Formats: sequence, C-alpha cells, structure tokens
Amino acid sequence: MLSLEEITKVTAGTILQFSQNYSVQYLLTDSRKILHPAGSLFFAIKGSFNDGHDYLETLYAKGVRQFVVEYIPDILKKDDQTGLVVALPEANIIQVKSSLKALQQLAAFHRSLFQIPVFGITGSNGKTIVKEWLSQLLNPDEMVVKSPRSYNSQIGVPLSVWQLNDNHTIGLFEAGISQPDEMENLRQVIKPTFGIFTNIGPAHDQGFISRKEKVNEKLKLFQEVELLFYCLDQKEVQEAVAAQQIPAFTWSRHLPADLQILSSTPIGNETTILFKYKGVEQGLHVPFADEASLENVLHCVAVLLWRQLPIEEIQQRVYKLTPVAMRLEMKEAINGCYLIDDTYNNDLSGLAIALDFLQHQPRQGKKVLILSDLLESGLGDEVLYSQVAEIVKAKQLDKLIAIGEKISQYQSEFDLDSQFYSSTTAFLNAFTPDSFRNETILIKGARKFEFEKIVAAFQRKVHGTVLEVNMDALVHNLNFYRAKLKPETKIMVMVKAFAYGSGSYEIANLLQFHRADYLAVAYTDEGVQLRENGITLPIMVMNPSPDSFTKIQQFHLEPEIYSFEILEACLAALPDQNATLNIHIKLDTGMHRLGFTEAEIPEIAKIIKANPKIHIASAFSHLAGADEAFHNDYSKLQISKFRKMAAGLEEQLGYSVIKHTLNSAGIVRFPEDQLDMVRLGIGLYGVEATNTEQKSLRTVGTLKTTVSQVKQIRAGETVGYSRRGIATEDKEIATIAIGYADGYDRRFGNGVGKVLINGHLAPVFGNVCMDMCMVDVTGLGVKAGDPVVIFGEEVSITKLAKSIGTIPYELLTNVSARVKRVFYSE
Ligand SMILES: *Cc1c(COP(=O)(O)O)cnc(C)c1O
Repeated sequence: MLSLEEITKVTAGTILQFSQNYSVQYLLTDSRKILHPAGSLFFAIKGSFNDGHDYLETLYAKGVRQFVVEYIPDILKKDDQTGLVVALPEANIIQVKSSLKALQQLAAFHRSLFQIPVFGITGSNGKTIVKEWLSQLLNPDEMVVKSPRSYNSQIGVPLSVWQLNDNHTIGLFEAGISQPDEMENLRQVIKPTFGIFTNIGPAHDQGFISRKEKVNEKLKLFQEVELLFYCLDQKEVQEAVAAQQIPAFTWSRHLPADLQILSSTPIGNETTILFKYKGVEQGLHVPFADEASLENVLHCVAVLLWRQLPIEEIQQRVYKLTPVAMRLEMKEAINGCYLIDDTYNNDLSGLAIALDFLQHQPRQGKKVLILSDLLESGLGDEVLYSQVAEIVKAKQLDKLIAIGEKISQYQSEFDLDSQFYSSTTAFLNAFTPDSFRNETILIKGARKFEFEKIVAAFQRKVHGTVLEVNMDALVHNLNFYRAKLKPETKIMVMVKAFAYGSGSYEIANLLQFHRADYLAVAYTDEGVQLRENGITLPIMVMNPSPDSFTKIQQFHLEPEIYSFEILEACLAALPDQNATLNIHIKLDTGMHRLGFTEAEIPEIAKIIKANPKIHIASAFSHLAGADEAFHNDYSKLQISKFRKMAAGLEEQLGYSVIKHTLNSAGIVRFPEDQLDMVRLGIGLYGVEATNTEQKSLRTVGTLKTTVSQVKQIRAGETVGYSRRGIATEDKEIATIAIGYADGYDRRFGNGVGKVLINGHLAPVFGNVCMDMCMVDVTGLGVKAGDPVVIFGEEVSITKLAKSIGTIPYELLTNVSARVKRVFYSE
C-alpha cells in the first residue's frame, strides 16, 4: 500500500494538505465513476470541456478523501487559522504540475513492481479484438490482466495498468494515440516486454504530418520490447520496423516470414488457412471469413505458435473464438423495457463500466442487472463476490438477477432485491415477460451461460429496420461547436421533432449530462415527455398552443412568446401563487415566420412590467439564410437589427436578458455574433449546414434494414407496383424491409435512391412500397438476412437528400416512430 509521501514522491508533487494516511486502492479520474470513495485517489484533470477541479467538493461529500490537484479553485477558501481548505477539512491533497502526468507516473511506478510478460498492442484497427481474443486464447494457461473494453487513451492506459496484482501472470494492454508525442507516455506506463502492431489505416491521420510519422509514433511503444509481432505485408510498417531494428516475429501472405500464410480458403462463414511454420506446412480452421477477423486472428496465432502451443491445441482454442461486441447498446425490449446487452466483457472492471452506463440512463423505471458467475477473475470466489456486491451496491441498482452456482453461493453478500438461479435454463423456465415493465436491464454474462437466449426472450419482435444512434459521435459534434464558442456563451440544443428523429429523452439526457444550458422543443407535449423522463434542464417550447399554458407551468417549461395573442393566453393561465414564469420573446428580424416587430417592443415591455410574475429569460431571432454564403449580407442585417431590438427591449424592461440568434450554420459562419447563447440543431446530429466543415463532424444516425428475400428475375419481367421496375436483362432483385411508411421517401424509386449492401451501392428497382422496396443486386452475392445501410457513415445523408430535392433535416425527421432506435457508445 502506498503512503501519501510515496505517491507525492512518485508524482513529483508537494503535499498541500495532510490529514491522515488513507489507503489508495482505486484511481479515479471521472467524478461520475465513483465506486469506492474511501479507497479512491482522485486526479483532478483539466479536459478541453470539463475540469476535474470543479468536482472536488462534490467528491468530498461522497466520501473521497484523497486528491491530486493542479490548483485549489478560488471558490474553495482556506481557513485563516488552520490553513486547511474549509470545504475539504479531512482531505489529503497533493499538488502537481499536471494531474494527468501524475496519474501516468503513478501507474508507471505500479507497473514497475511486476516482472510478468506484458504485451503492448497498438495499430489503427483491431486493437481491442486482438486483445480480447488473445486473452481468451491464453486463458487456459495464464491469469490475464487486460485493458477493460477499449481503455487505450492517456487516461485509460494508466487505469488499465493499475489493475495489475500479484495473481496475474500476463498483461495485455492496448495503446491508442491521436497525436504526435502521446505514445512515449503510454510506453512508460505499459512498459511492454512484447508488442503487437495490428495494422495501419487512415484513423487519426489528421493528427499527423504523414502516415510515416504516424507509424513511427506508434512504434515508439515498442522501443524496448523483446519481440514485436506484426504482419510484413504492410510496407509502411515493415520499412519502419526494419529501420528501427526492432526484433520481430513476422507473418506474411507474400514475403518470407516466420509464419508464412500459403493460402486461405473461405468456406461459408469459416476459413481454412494453410501455413508454414519452422519448415512444416500445417492447416488451421478459423470460424470467420472476413478479412479483418482473419488478420486479427493471425496476430494471435503468431503469438501462440511462438509460445510453442501444439497446433491441435491452437485449433481447439481458435475454433471457440466468438465475435467481440465493441460497444454498449441500449435496445428497446418488451413492455417498455430497455436492454443493455453486454455479454462479452465478464470481468470486474467491465462490470463497473457497464453499470455506469446503466446508472446514467435517466429512465424512470427500475434498474436491473442480470449477471452470471464471473469467470477468470484472478481472485478467490469469496473476495470476488464481495467485490461484486460492493460494486452493485455503489451503483444503486433496484434489482439483481444472478445466474450461476458460484454467485448463488454468495447470496448473503448482496443486500438488495435479488433472485438467484443455478443456470440460464432455470431462469428462462421461471421467466414471465409480464413481471418486467419499464425497467432498464443490463445483461452481462460469461459466454458459457449463453445469455443471448435471455436477450432473445426480452427483445421485442420488430421488423428489421433500425436507426442506430452513435452517442459518442453526438458528443463529439457538441464539442466541435463548443470549441467555436467563448467559454461564457451558453448552448441551447434543439431537440424538437424527436431530436431530429434521433430519439428524444435519450438525447436530452446525454445533453444534460454534458452540460448543455438549455433545450428547446417545438410543442408542449414534447417538453412534458422530457420532464416525465427525468430531464431537469430548462426547456423552451417554441410553439406553445394557447390551451397548454397550464401544463407549461406545471412542468416548468418556458414558452416562446411571439405575439400579443399568445402573451395574453399565457397571462390568463398564470396561477395566483407567487411562482414566476420564464418566457422567451421571439423577434422577427426578417425570417417573417413568428415574432414581434420593432414597433411592438414598447407594448411588450409595458405588459411585462405590469405582470411581475413573468420574467423574460431571453430574446431571440432566427436567421433565414445562415446556411448559404449568398445570404451573408441579409444575415448580417438581421443580426444588427436583432441587436438593436433586443437592446431596446432591455432598456425598457430595466433588466438584461439572454440574447441569441445563431443556429448551427450561424455558429460556423458568424462566430463574432454568438451573443449570450446559440441554438444548436442539425449540427449536433452530424450535418454541417454550411457544408464547409462537414469533415469535422461525425455521423450520428445510421438507418439500417435487412434483405427479406432475393429473387432471380428474367429479362422482360417486371418488379413491383405499376410494373415500373422493368428488367431489360436477367437480374437479381433483393426485397428490403423499408418503405415510405418508415420514412424511405417514395421519390427514391426507380434508380434515384441507392442503398449499401455488401459494400456495394444497389439502386432501387421500381417503385418504393409502403413497408418495403426492391433493389437491384445483380452479381453482388446478396442473400436474405444481409444488412442494408440506407444512410450513415458511408452513405451521405446530404447527398441522398439532394437526390430527391430536399434537405437532410427532412430525411432525419421522416424516419418514422415504428423504426426502432438503438443507442450505442463505442
Ligand atoms: C430548429 C431551429 C434552430 C436550429 O436550426 P439548425 O439549422 O438545425 O441548427 C434554431 N432556432 C430555431 C428557432 C429553430 O426553430
């Protein structure tokens, strides 16, 4: 156990305040992920959008007593006499130059206490899969410690390495970088004795001058390894490794190498690989057929061969590998429940991460965990299950369903509403769908428990069309716009129309979590729904109907007032109590949709001053042409008119209000006019409306469906309604499960729309039907069940919209309510 002095020494810090020696078991960098307050050392790290120093008091209140800081925030005063920080009297506080560096130094020190072999894994793609697979493959012989999920960043790596304990016999840690100079830090923390370079691709290219620079930067991880495992076939990698003379174990499909791949033959979903190792030709059967999986598995096979595992044993283990789910998803399930299916990561840290994800869902219903025995933890059962119980307790679950004989033995450790079953079958036999309603359920089990059967039992049968919403991309986009704003400028996020089709409270919750200042919806009911799902941010309602003002007040919503009629309706509904109502005044500066004119301002001010229960929170206007440079002069005119009108209003009111006029396009085009707040809409969902910085945004929504059937059509036959799809030659036609009732516009018919199947764009053949449509897949090897992308990363929604003469806004909001939304984080 490290003492405070030792930690101070390792991190080259100074002790600002000492209270008493507490134990340090856990490193904490995210105030939300607190598990064991008493044993945690919190590192206050300054990020671009969040500063850990803002959370010191909150963490102290939750029981954290040890802090590494760069400074003491001004609001935390020191007691003149004792010199202690008043709000943190019993805390130990170490001050360092950089908390992040200190975290890395401490982890590096921890690493230096262990002499076991450690693999460092880096590369553009496949790091997590190679790590997970290698862990599965080594498990029969080793006690593996590995990065949880894809914890491979400047913060993730130290947290991963901190898990090392005396029971572990081998370590597998991934390292990911996005900028020059980052790898050296990670190397010092991981200190790999062996390396795996998965591959090099375009990810994060923008952070580097050249691909070569990126390869060389990544190779820094391997400066001192005994052996680097990599594939010779990537010339850039091969040249760089040779130049740096890193000792290597190589594999290749084309060049002489330690492990030489002679052939690989796909058979259905599997592949037979013929290879030569140490002069002997041998065969291996792997349960995958795609290129990426083959590459990943060959890295692992190289390691196993080098470890002299007999080929029969390798074959057995490799054949048991299963695909690695890369992300946490929340899916709609029966009876209003949502499922988070995380059945692959069955260790303690994976459990804590998944429970975090569960805990941060704001849904009103209960939170339930279905958990199997934990295998391969490296801990004795008693310690293991008492830790599991501790984690479960810290995450405030409503209910636990535990499945397995081991976990059932430790029932008494869990003091919450819980049920125990000896096996998955026992649970399924007792399962009654009606006993679950509106719950959010995390499902997490070791592979052998086959929890996919439980997932299937819970999943609502819906037709195969889903809109996948990437929550990380959404946050990325939020931060892109934030970076364009002054720190004091507020952000109102438009979540009208079901958050531009993406799903309402799920998005609102994420925005609340990431500290948006305001939300805006179109109608009162949309706002009520957000409130009912636990959203507490202020919410502006842009189009309050006159009869909805009672609800507006009841649910603390804030109406937009755009005319005297609506102002009167609002006043008439004001209750007798003393509560004040925040309203937002819309000014018409040239959009000519809703809003007051300049001449009406004195009258507004007069009415408001006569009604002290009404407070004008903000005044705003909307630009008619911010997305097109052509209209810049007009936009500027609108903005200056708005400034003048708002100033007039404030003067006559006698107080100032929040002023805002920029939408997404305006933020990009007129950063000098951000005033007090901006209103972010389409940009958050991944469409850059000025089309000048589209590359900086990430795609949020992917509309997907599946192939229902494939037909061979003879030349001369026709397909679909009105016989519009005319086969001029023999064709293969696939019917896909999406139609205009799902939001796939009828104008996409007859070759206008193209969908992505098996990596190819297939044009729509004939007319689009209500629930499905047909596409030409001649020669593409398409079969029933194949996934189809309508729009997403590879199929630009902007281009798609243009092809039918509309805008992405319409395509996004047209995705109908019956299309299931799936939310995921990477
Ligand atoms: C929808 C809307 C926005 C957001 O516009 P985007 O172009 O999606 O950024 C801003 N202000 C008002 C008044 C809106 O109705």
